[in-house]
Amino acid sequence: MHELLSRLGLARDENLGGFDGEHWLGTGTPLDVITPIDGARIASVRPIRRAEYEHIVARAEAAFRTWREVPAPKRGEVVRRLGDALRAHKKDLGALVTLEMGKITAEGEGEVQEMIDVCDFACGLSRQLHGLTMHSERPRHRMYEQWHPLGVIGVITAFNFPVAVWSWNAAIAAVCGDTTVWKPSPKTPLTAIATTHLAARVCRESGVDPAVFSLAFGSVEDVGEPMLADPRFPLVSATGSTRMGRRAAEVVGRRLGRTLLELGGNNAVIVTSHADLDLATRAILFGAVGTAGQRCTSTRRILVHRSVRDELVKRLVRAYATVRIGDPRAAGTLMGPLVSHDAVAAVQSALARLKEEGGEVLYGGAPLDGPAFPGGHYVEPCIAAAKHEYRIVQEETFAPILYVIDYGGTSRPRDHVTLLGEMREAIALHNAVPQGLSGSIFTHHLVEAEAFLAHTGSDCGIANVNIGTSGAEIGGAFGGEKDTGGGRESGSDAWKSYMRRQTNTLNWGMDLPLSQGITFGE
Ligand code: NAD
Repeated sequence: MHELLSRLGLARDENLGGFDGEHWLGTGTPLDVITPIDGARIASVRPIRRAEYEHIVARAEAAFRTWREVPAPKRGEVVRRLGDALRAHKKDLGALVTLEMGKITAEGEGEVQEMIDVCDFACGLSRQLHGLTMHSERPRHRMYEQWHPLGVIGVITAFNFPVAVWSWNAAIAAVCGDTTVWKPSPKTPLTAIATTHLAARVCRESGVDPAVFSLAFGSVEDVGEPMLADPRFPLVSATGSTRMGRRAAEVVGRRLGRTLLELGGNNAVIVTSHADLDLATRAILFGAVGTAGQRCTSTRRILVHRSVRDELVKRLVRAYATVRIGDPRAAGTLMGPLVSHDAVAAVQSALARLKEEGGEVLYGGAPLDGPAFPGGHYVEPCIAAAKHEYRIVQEETFAPILYVIDYGGTSRPRDHVTLLGEMREAIALHNAVPQGLSGSIFTHHLVEAEAFLAHTGSDCGIANVNIGTSGAEIGGAFGGEKDTGGGRESGSDAWKSYMRRQTNTLNWGMDLPLSQGITFGE
C-alpha cells in the first residue's frame, strides 16, 4: 500500500487537501481515510479551511483569464495529455479507487478507463464547440451564434464515482476554456488528490497554469456551502443525493447562477413476456449487484410480467447465489463492501420497512461477518418481493436491494390491445417514482420496445432496450429528469452547459434596416 500511495504522489500522513495551481494547502484537522475493505486506516488528509478556499478560488479565477486565451484545440491537446497520464497510471489509480471506495478491481480500473475515454472525447470536441448560423431577415446581415468560455466551474462529486465524475466535468470544461475547482466527497479525498497531482504535472509539462484543475477538499461548511453561494462560480455542477441537489439548486438559484445536477436514481427494468430471460438475468445481476448496488444507475426495481415472474426470480436467485462477495481486490470477487457502516445499517432498515409494509425477502440481505468479511462493511445482495405502492420502493436505498414487482396477466398477451394495455401498466409503474435517471426493457417484441421509448413511454434521461440500467458509455449525454436533477454531462452536446451562448448579428451593408419592419425617425 505504501508503494501504491507514493507512486501516486501521496503520503501516509497529512496529505494536503487543497491545490491552488502552485501550492498544496490544508490547515484543517487531519482526517483519517478508512478503507471499507477491512476498516483499516489508509492515510490522513488535512482539509482546507475557509481562508484557503478563498485563495484557491481567486487563483482559479485568475487562471481562467489566461486559459480562455489558449485556442480550444491547444486546450484539447493538454486534455489529450491528461488522458495519456491516466493511461500510464490506470492500474495504480484504479487500485486506489478500489482501496478507498471499495469497488472491485475491474470496476476501479474501468472508472479510470472512463476518464481516459472522456479525455479523448473532449480532445476531439476541442476542434468543434460549434454554433449555428441563421438567415437574417435584413439584407446584408449575417446572424450566427458563438459559444464562449463560462468561467470557474465548481465541481462537487459523490463517493461512488470518486474520479470519473470529476473528469466528465473537468475535461469537458477545460476544452471549453473554463477552470474548475473540485470539491470531492469526504469519503474519497485520496483519489482526488492523486488525480490532481497527475493533472498538475500534465499542466506544468504543457506550460499551462495547473490552477486550471484546482482542488478544494474541505467540509460542507468551509467549502461546499461557500461554493454554492459564491458568484464567482457561474456554474456549479453537483453530483450526489437529491437532498444535496435540492439545497444546491436553492442556494445557487438564489443568486441566479446555473446548476448542473446529477442526483439519485430509482431505476427499473421491465421484463416482458417476450424477453430473453437469459439476457435479462445477466443484465439485472450486473445492474443490481455491480458496485454493490452503489451506482446512481443501479437497478433497484424489476417490473416483470406475471407469466415469466417465477422463472425470472428462480434464475435471479440462482445467479445471486454464484456472486462471490469479499475483498474487492481478489480475483473472482464480484461484490465488495459497502462504503460505510451507515450503508450497511440502511440495508437493514430498508428491509425492516419492507417487511412492515408486507414485502418479503426472497434472497439475501443479511450483514456478513467473520474473517472473510472484516470491518463490518459487507452484506448479502438482496432480492425482495414488493408492491409498487410501498413507500420504501419510492426511495433510493444506496445498496444492493432489488424489488421485484409484477404486472400484466398470467399468460403472454394474445392480441394487440391487451399487449398495449399491459405495456401502459408497466410504463406507469416504471415512471411512478420521484426519480428519473435510467430504465430499460427486455423484450424482442417491437411494439413493446417502441412503446417504452416513445414520448409516452419512459420518463427517464436514459432508456435502454435489451441492456441494463447501468454502465452508460461516455459518448451519450448522461443524466436524468425529475428528482435526478435534469443535468446532462459527458457526451453529445453536454459541453454546452460549460459555455455561454452569444448571438451575433453583423451588418455588412450601408443601411440600417430594423427588424420587424420597424421604421424609426426619418
Ligand atoms: P451526498 O449527497 O452525500 O454527497 C455528494 C457530495 O455533495 C459530497 O461531496 C458532499 O460533501 C457534497 N455536499 C453535501 N451537502 C452539501 C452542501 N450543503 N453544499 C455543498 N456540497 C454538499 O452523496 P453521496 O453519498 O456521496 O453519493 C451517493 C448519491 O449520489 C446517490 O444518491 C447517487 O444516486 C448519487 N449519484 C448520482 C450520480 C448521477 O450522475 N446522477 C452519480 C453518482 C452518484
